[in-house]
Amino acid sequence: MVKENLAQVRENIRKACERAGRPPKEVTLISVSKTKPVPMLEEAYAAGSRDFGENKVQEIMDKYPQLPGDIRWHMIGHLQRNKVKYIVDKVSLIHSVDSLRLAQEISSQAGKKQVDVDILLEVNIAGEESKFGIAREDAIRLVQEAAALPHIHVKGLMTIAPFVSDPEDNRQYFRQIRELSVDIEQKNIDNVNMSVLSMGMTGDYMVAIEEGATMVRVGTGIFGERNYG
Ligand SMILES: *Cc1c(COP(=O)(O)O)cnc(C)c1O
Repeated sequence: MVKENLAQVRENIRKACERAGRPPKEVTLISVSKTKPVPMLEEAYAAGSRDFGENKVQEIMDKYPQLPGDIRWHMIGHLQRNKVKYIVDKVSLIHSVDSLRLAQEISSQAGKKQVDVDILLEVNIAGEESKFGIAREDAIRLVQEAAALPHIHVKGLMTIAPFVSDPEDNRQYFRQIRELSVDIEQKNIDNVNMSVLSMGMTGDYMVAIEEGATMVRVGTGIFGERNYG
């Protein structure tokens, strides 16, 4: 089932790119495997998936040694500062940086492990109270402050759009994130590029791609519904 779902999602990505006049290779599909058992990740791996997204530090630590070393792990969930040290040398991109203190901790732990870490800043674009992420107005300042830290590189922005039944309702937010990233790019801040826009999930990734997403995070559409026990 995972294999067929992946094929379907990839086909949808291709079509969305076509509609937007974008080359499909601009869009990275992240298979969001949180709560799913290792055999399902192995199925996705066998079907060609190399980018996996997880939202819990413990789950990355459990799965990391059980799966092939060429997987790129994406930390997409809220990250507590005291847990940064466990994953800083295991993940290829941290999507969920939403404070200077967190960026400082990532920088410091990366220095200790002698690695460089790519990060995205999470923006709460719709201003939802239930969501993590910085306000749009604070993004530029945090980019500037994070860019000055050693061992981390700001690569772009991430957002979790509101939960909606019609994905068209989120188009405005995806467009706003893209505009924000263009604004930041134009400031030509050292050690910052805005090449990554991580936005779009199972319900709305096609709209996100039409609005410029370069990474989409798809869980349910690949692995099926999650059961939280
Ligand atoms: C769970 C999760 C996803 C995937 O959600 P689906 O709707 O299952 O595709 C994407 N991004 C983040 C940050 C998540 O926590």
